[in-house]
Amino acid sequence: MSERHPDGFLKRSRQPLAYRDPRQRIADYDEILAGWQADAIQAQGERCMDCGVPTCMAGCPLGNLIPDWNDLVSRQRWREALARLHATNNFPEFTGYTCPAPCEPACVLGRDDEAVSIKAIERAIVDMGWAQGWIRPEPPPHRSGQRVAVVGSGPAGLACAQQLNRAGHAVTVFERSEVVGGLMALGIPDFKIAKHRVARRVAQLAAEGVRFLTGRCVGRDPSLAQLRARFDAVCLAIGAGAARELALPGRSLAGVDLAMDFLVAENHRQAGRAAAPHIDVHGQRVLVLGGGDTGADCVATAHRQGACTVTQVSVRGAPPLQRAPDNPWPQWPRIRRRSYALEEGGEEAFALDAVAFLAAAGHGRVAAMQFERVAWHYDGQGRRSGRQVLDPEVVLPADQVLIAIGFAGPDLAPFAGTGLGPGPRGTLATDAAMMSSLPGVFVAGDARRGASLVVWAIGEGRDAARQIDLYLRGHSELPASLMSPNPPLA
Ligand SMILES: Cc1cc2nc3c(=O)[nH]c(=O)nc-3n(C[C@H](O)[C@H](O)[C@H](O)COP(=O)(O)OP(=O)(O)OC[C@H]3O[C@@H](n4cnc5c(N)ncnc54)[C@H](O)[C@@H]3O)c2cc1C
Ligand code: SF4
Repeated sequence: MSERHPDGFLKRSRQPLAYRDPRQRIADYDEILAGWQADAIQAQGERCMDCGVPTCMAGCPLGNLIPDWNDLVSRQRWREALARLHATNNFPEFTGYTCPAPCEPACVLGRDDEAVSIKAIERAIVDMGWAQGWIRPEPPPHRSGQRVAVVGSGPAGLACAQQLNRAGHAVTVFERSEVVGGLMALGIPDFKIAKHRVARRVAQLAAEGVRFLTGRCVGRDPSLAQLRARFDAVCLAIGAGAARELALPGRSLAGVDLAMDFLVAENHRQAGRAAAPHIDVHGQRVLVLGGGDTGADCVATAHRQGACTVTQVSVRGAPPLQRAPDNPWPQWPRIRRRSYALEEGGEEAFALDAVAFLAAAGHGRVAAMQFERVAWHYDGQGRRSGRQVLDPEVVLPADQVLIAIGFAGPDLAPFAGTGLGPGPRGTLATDAAMMSSLPGVFVAGDARRGASLVVWAIGEGRDAARQIDLYLRGHSELPASLMSPNPPLA
């Protein structure tokens, strides 16, 4: 066993997470991340300074014990590192493959040097765990006799279900889709995380005793009232998947689609399912409306389908190239980055406000889009407060437009009339204990926070599990997540 170098950060430079060559990876749907070498990961672990105040941990919404597992990996104690990783994160491969890693800009080393490659180390630990067969089902030694229904099988629902099951409760997960995994399975493209990684965790939960019922839209069949009568507590982890629309002239033209219809259909196609009509952009000029991550995934999928041109359009102005004075370390840097998708090709356009979808005369299919080029004014809190039109008629040609302008919140139609209270931004309201306006009905993940990240969803699922355990028993040994704003009930 090798000894750790306490001054590793002076001797070794950062080796960031490696990606496959963009020219090769657009030819397939395999993961864009390249493989890793154990000795290189160990050397990266040695760069951790083991700070007295580990600001990286505060940067991670889960409060992952980053310096601990950096140290263990640097000493080749991989199995112990895996145990420390699992102490705060049920599914480290979900984050190791998809997390934007807000921990890294918060790393102390990153203030004057380059941050520790935390995400690369996390991914390697959990990959090693699966490869070595260290990750196995952990069924609870005793059963509590109490039953919990978890609605939704995304990362929030799965984390909540695993925690509650391990605490001894009998957990049933109800999923509207035929596929378990939420956006991990039916939203995020295969090339960001291969779907066998999700299926493997679902199998682990099932082997631990969690029951999965798919094709069951709660609110309709069964109703929420039926669920509350049959279970001692319910957790709604139904995501925030209702798309934000762009109600402009020409919206009903053929060739204008929502990003999620495009991405979900491609996920089904890659899995060999023909569950949804496939939107094929081969040979087309594609406009993606929305400068965020969902838009980037549309750009990357369009490349793989063989689009002729792809342009990602943002209504916002281009972000600065360096941190602004009001955005200091260790905050997440609000700077311009070229996404993985644009590294593969395509253009980006900023400060274009959509006006209309245009068709060629006599045709029912989109042929172009009209925009206004704008300059935004901001208030003291950085919110847009006004706009100036610089050019009233910017027209971009398009055979296919994909709308990726965000999400309006959870789909609450099945829950109409149940008495569930609305929260901010179309989400579901909860009290400090994550309980909705209905006693015994809790909410977790995007349904509570609004559209967010996998890492937050896992943390929300863990926190909701603790709150439900407290509600059922009056005490709980399940850990709270660092992010938890929720005081214990007992
Ligand atoms: C295209 C795309 C790419 C993304 N990429 C990333 C990324 O790279 N990194 C990252 O961190 N985050 C990413 N995200 C965000 C991330 O996927 C979400 O924040 C996360 O999945 C939310 O988890 P959740 O469990 O709250 O909800 P979801 O994952 O949305 O799961 C909710 C589940 O509830 C089910 N459901 C809804 N209503 C009912 C009902 N009435 N009855 C039964 N079941 C129901 C749904 O079918 C779904 O399976 C991405 C999101 C999208 C859309
Ligand atoms: S979950 Fe995300 S933020 Fe937390 S340590 Fe891993 S990469 Fe960093």
